[in-house]
Amino acid sequence: MSQNQNIGFIGLGTMGAPMAKQILKKGFSLFVYDICHEAMEPLLEAGAKKAKSIRDIAETCNIIITMLPDTPDVKKVLLGENGVIEYAKKGTTVIDMSTISPSVTEEIAEKLEKKGINMLDAPVSGGPKMAEEGNLSIMVGGQKEVFEKCLPILECMGKTIVYMGSHGSGQIVKLCNQIICVLNIQAICEALSLARSKNIDLPKVIEALKGGAAGSWMMENMAPRIIKGDASAGFKIRLQVKDIRLALELAEKEKVPLPATSLVKNLYLEAMAHGEENNGNQALFRVYERLTGRSLKYGGD
Ligand code: NAD
Repeated sequence: MSQNQNIGFIGLGTMGAPMAKQILKKGFSLFVYDICHEAMEPLLEAGAKKAKSIRDIAETCNIIITMLPDTPDVKKVLLGENGVIEYAKKGTTVIDMSTISPSVTEEIAEKLEKKGINMLDAPVSGGPKMAEEGNLSIMVGGQKEVFEKCLPILECMGKTIVYMGSHGSGQIVKLCNQIICVLNIQAICEALSLARSKNIDLPKVIEALKGGAAGSWMMENMAPRIIKGDASAGFKIRLQVKDIRLALELAEKEKVPLPATSLVKNLYLEAMAHGEENNGNQALFRVYERLTGRSLKYGGD
């Protein structure tokens, strides 16, 4: 793929901004847009061009990347009034990297394809730090030849990039990823709560467990934050609840019981009820603190 192509990036939040920076770094010509104008500033300083609107991006760019919060946001930007579908040229490719509904992804792809616009669903795993390093995992659905054409752009942002199959299959795999992540966080919170009840040194618990069979990315990255009492985002609880909801919706449609995932969803709802929707998803530890009446903070009461 030539560096001369115009790439548009819509949605420059926690993840979109560092991902867009990686594309710029590789020398592509990048146009950016976000409804929150301040979100564009760091990208403009780094050399991106400012788009005035979604229409501006659609008329200027051959590849359009979206990194938006939820299904309705992606639908509005791609299919809504003054959206991408109205102004994009035939042959344009949309790469949606947000985590959204797999079935709505299929609907959007079908509508765009009727207008000669290709679409890939390419949700990501890994937080803002991995995005800054260009080390995300990316799981991709859509036509294989479109995937192959877009690979050089995906390679700016990710290290593990796997083609999964037809439209929506990237999103399905991302929901599987989320099931494993939330159950892992919950397991860590439960184990630390039990250790805390007997006043066992929590940093040593992590040190002992992370090198063994209980070790994981979450144990490595989130357990230390939990025992520091660090609830800050990262990946916000409200987005995690959205992902669990999408997994449970798919599971219900396919008649697949997900008992553990349902349980964790309720624990996250408890966190939401306590006003924690913008905390990071590791803040599930606060739910356990409320359940046990004990702080998990190292040195806490
Ligand atoms: P975020 O809320 O930080 O950023 C979203 C951005 O989209 C914001 O800047 C917002 O202003 C912009 N936006 C919203 N509606 C818009 C519109 N109509 N037009 C233009 N811009 C619009 O969210 P995030 O954490 O970057 O997550 C984005 C997506 O990536 C979500 O689907 C999330 O589930 C997924 N994700 C997040 C993480 C993470 O660690 N934060 C990791 C993997 C995947």
